[in-house]
Amino acid sequence: MRPLKTFSAVPRLPDSLFGLWELAYNCWFAWNSEISSLFATMHPSLWEECRENPVIFLHRLPQKILVELSEDDFFLQRLQEALASLRHYVSKAGNSTSLPDMDDARPAVTYFSLEYGIATCLPIYSGGLGILAGDHLKSASDLNLPLNGVGLCYREGYFRQYMTPDGWQQERYPDYDFEELPLQPVKDEKGNRITVDVDLAGQRLLAQAWLCRVGRISLYLLDANIPENPPELRAITSRLYGGDLEMRLCQEMLLGVGGVRLMHRLGLPPTVVHMNEGHSAFAALERIRIFMREHGLSFEAAQEMAASTSVFTTHTPVPAGNDRFPPELMARYFEPYARDMGLSFKVFLALGREDPRNDQEAFCMTVLALRLSRFNNGVSRLHGKVSRKMWKRVWPQFPVEDVPIGAITNGVHMPTWVAPDMALVYDRYLGSNWREDPDCTRVWNNADTIPDAELWRTHERMRERLVDFVRKRLRRQLLEKGARARELQAADEVLDPRALTIGFARRFATYKRANILLLDEERLLRLLSNRQRPVQFIFAGKAHPADNDGKRLIQKLIELCRRKETRYSLVFLEDYDMKIAMHMVQGCDVWLNTPRRPLEACGTSGMKAMANGVLQLSTLDGWWDEAFQPDNSVGFSIGMGEEYEDHAYQDFVESQTLYTVLESDVVPDFYDRGHGNLPRSWIHKMKKGIGELGPFFNAHRMVEDYAEHAYSPAYNSGVALARDAFGPAKELASWRMNLMTQWGGLAIRNVRAEATERVYVGEPITVWAEVQLNGVSPADVRVEAYHGLLDKDGEFSFRKTTEMYENQGMDDGWRLYRCEIQPRDPGRFGFTVRIMPSHPLLPDPHSLGLIRWA
Ligand SMILES: *Cc1c(COP(=O)(O)O)cnc(C)c1O
Repeated sequence: MRPLKTFSAVPRLPDSLFGLWELAYNCWFAWNSEISSLFATMHPSLWEECRENPVIFLHRLPQKILVELSEDDFFLQRLQEALASLRHYVSKAGNSTSLPDMDDARPAVTYFSLEYGIATCLPIYSGGLGILAGDHLKSASDLNLPLNGVGLCYREGYFRQYMTPDGWQQERYPDYDFEELPLQPVKDEKGNRITVDVDLAGQRLLAQAWLCRVGRISLYLLDANIPENPPELRAITSRLYGGDLEMRLCQEMLLGVGGVRLMHRLGLPPTVVHMNEGHSAFAALERIRIFMREHGLSFEAAQEMAASTSVFTTHTPVPAGNDRFPPELMARYFEPYARDMGLSFKVFLALGREDPRNDQEAFCMTVLALRLSRFNNGVSRLHGKVSRKMWKRVWPQFPVEDVPIGAITNGVHMPTWVAPDMALVYDRYLGSNWREDPDCTRVWNNADTIPDAELWRTHERMRERLVDFVRKRLRRQLLEKGARARELQAADEVLDPRALTIGFARRFATYKRANILLLDEERLLRLLSNRQRPVQFIFAGKAHPADNDGKRLIQKLIELCRRKETRYSLVFLEDYDMKIAMHMVQGCDVWLNTPRRPLEACGTSGMKAMANGVLQLSTLDGWWDEAFQPDNSVGFSIGMGEEYEDHAYQDFVESQTLYTVLESDVVPDFYDRGHGNLPRSWIHKMKKGIGELGPFFNAHRMVEDYAEHAYSPAYNSGVALARDAFGPAKELASWRMNLMTQWGGLAIRNVRAEATERVYVGEPITVWAEVQLNGVSPADVRVEAYHGLLDKDGEFSFRKTTEMYENQGMDDGWRLYRCEIQPRDPGRFGFTVRIMPSHPLLPDPHSLGLIRWA
């Protein structure tokens, strides 16, 4: 018989322990080891069993232990200290670093993401994108940046992975009770739950909000699983990346449209919006709609407002990773919405099309975001370049290097990912500033002063801890499968705590190529079976539930791990998550990564490893293309950044290179032990990596880059455009509309230079061009010479622009412009002339897409 009604019996915390709730409901515990270890000491095994979720943990603590602790003076004192630190942290106003002067009274920036990786226990992330968003919030909190987050709250989270006896991935979806997560319901002054509604193809979806405190930051999560919704709508927030295309569209509408509505409902309308990946691009549309409705702006003026204050980060160079919705599907969900904005549906769809005239083209969220934001970036230098190429059709008139997509390289949140033991070493030799000011080169340069033996012993302790963790996990995995006692015993003996340990943990997507390590089994086995210089591998990672190729790869790997000759040196850990990542990036010696260049946008797990003194062994892709030094002084590379047409051939070449680098560089270096059994050259690389890469590849530097290059100019644009009842926004919009109608009549003729075939480096050349402005005021344009060295194909390999000035009017309405340019380096040199729009309120003239070439 089933009960009619159920209640959770929550333990009554003794008064002296009440402060534990305050610690539990702020995710600061995820990067403050004082707090997490306080919870752990209360009941270590239960803490682990609860996946380090303090709310469940407090719910389940036996009353007896609570009573004991409430009388334990030492514990009570620690609790008071932890509470005091949290309160001090949260209330600390102002900031040591130089951030733009935003009005702090109300968080100005709203960050949108479909996933957030904040703590192991909060199941609203799947992988890198989410972890990055979590690290972004944490650094924004540490920097005291006025920012809020918005996301969704999934009842079944992302799937949990387990394997069948023959190594096939299975997915499990636990049902999470939000009351048992570090989330609190968002209520209004009267104590009623705050909800927002979104129209979904004629049905009204209602969503309630939960608040997740991330240090000083408020992260609001929308939840559609409420009784007011019919079952099919309640399912919208069931699973992260679950369901079909239509489900994805509904989730993205809830995130973008619902998210903006929520912030308005809370009295926190965003001044600047940061869209983390195209998933949230509907936020820009909803802001346009609200500007139109609340301030009576035209679509064009509202679009100026929204675009000038939007920041968009694109994350994936894999075409399938960019959401595209068929026009029919869009019509069902957005026709009334477009009408509400006064747009014909065709014009509406054009916002999401690379070619606005192509009626067949699907509606792409990335294109929508690019068109509706003035600050676009990729997540590493290489990815910026790849993105400019990938999306150049959105700006068809522009040379690829002028496509307005920049790059802000990702970083990781150091206090989250650095092992507590290593953190103590850093405290001692770098000073505690490495936490508050991790992008300071001076701080990290002190890595040099860490004594070799101390760094190495600490690292070895981390490796031992990793081995211990792996054995326990393996034992649990086996127990769950009903393994026999003999197998369980074997689990206790896998891995050698002194052997060279290589970690490979990531999504099993095809481009990540977990297979290239397995291509030459004989060479791999030779590495593993060397008794003098043993090598061992730890693997972890999930394949997307629908990706059978990825699952086959895992299966092949597991098959190999189970063989008699490899079972002690190859281990696959099931259910990769933040906890496993933490242990692996802290305890391995080498972090292996084999993406097919240039498909890894950035990659952050390697940075986490770097922050712990773990060396990289990776193809030159994403961040490693930027960080690697060719003398191998901070880590190792597989190849030199080649790109191949023939993928099978590339895999073969790179797998052979991988074995060679392992055999002749990595293994000898690691086992080259001197006095005190220390691998001096290896330790030197660890220190150089920490010292030179630490100050740059961290999330504080990343967030400060966003603040300086995106949030701050976007904020200032927003303030300037909204002044005088949005006068400047209206003016800018009508200026733009006029310019667009007149632009077709602009022309350039008679471009000439007073130079012969040969010019000399450093010697000025005068350039003239005749320009027809067709009634456009000279103040509204910038005429410029576009010049530089040419490559062997006659294309500009490096270009510079120099503004030209009007020299004199001509009789027939044309104007003569001139300037001087100088070849800076010897080589084949060329130039041309172009006209760009120019307006003081337009920070980047490229964003309008208007250009006239000679
Ligand atoms: C850091 C992290 C990732 C992202 O790592 P990549 O290098 O981008 O593969 C994925 N999953 C987890 C659990 C992580 O901690």
